[in-house]
Amino acid sequence: MRLRNISGSRDVIAVSPYVVKEAQQYRGKWAELFGNTNPVYVEVGMGKGQFLHTLASLHPENNYVGIEKYSSVLLRAIQKMEADELPNLKLLRMEAEEIASVFGKGEAAGIYLNFSDPWPKDRHAKRRLPSAEFLARYDEIVAAGGKIEFKTDNRALFDFALEELERSVWKAELVTYDLHADEALMQGNVMTEYEEKFSAEGNPICKYVLVRK
Ligand code: SAM
Repeated sequence: MRLRNISGSRDVIAVSPYVVKEAQQYRGKWAELFGNTNPVYVEVGMGKGQFLHTLASLHPENNYVGIEKYSSVLLRAIQKMEADELPNLKLLRMEAEEIASVFGKGEAAGIYLNFSDPWPKDRHAKRRLPSAEFLARYDEIVAAGGKIEFKTDNRALFDFALEELERSVWKAELVTYDLHADEALMQGNVMTEYEEKFSAEGNPICKYVLVRK
């Protein structure tokens, strides 16, 4: 079954209290929406929500927003909330290109990118979530001192992401090509769905953490 074709996912999203609708209205007002001024971390390309749901349950002192473009995938994150409701996690069905219309300047405490789609054709490079074009969008919304964390098993995408830093305001404060071999870095590491799958297949996991230059 192709997840992307589950019928009715749009209907579920339309009535789900966990999904923020017409999110542009909350630009600059996420503290109001969450009912507190805790830091708001955003995962771009959340998929089925395993990473963010786990992180949000481990860190009630933070708020989290998951962005996913496909309704049928977002449905899985909704189901996790139905099974284990968390007040500090909200979900958005949207195209990440629009991220700066949903969060105001400095409104995000940090960004997580996990196993982003590789878009292997050169002409699609701007669609890659760690591209310089996306890094500029994150710069618009991430607070001073905020970080971007990216994990992937795709070495070509990771090398591309590192090259893109030259065209951005971000620099790497940490780079590893084998996260799971580093005991210190694995402290507090929360596994994503794709991370579990690909590390079980023996693929090394690359990770960087970015700060502003
Ligand atoms: N982050 C999850 C993980 O590590 O298990 C899912 C990884 S999956 C390969 C990438 C997800 O990002 C997909 O669910 C895809 O729909 C979503 N995605 C890719 N590009 C996106 C975009 N421009 N806007 C919103 N979601 C996007």
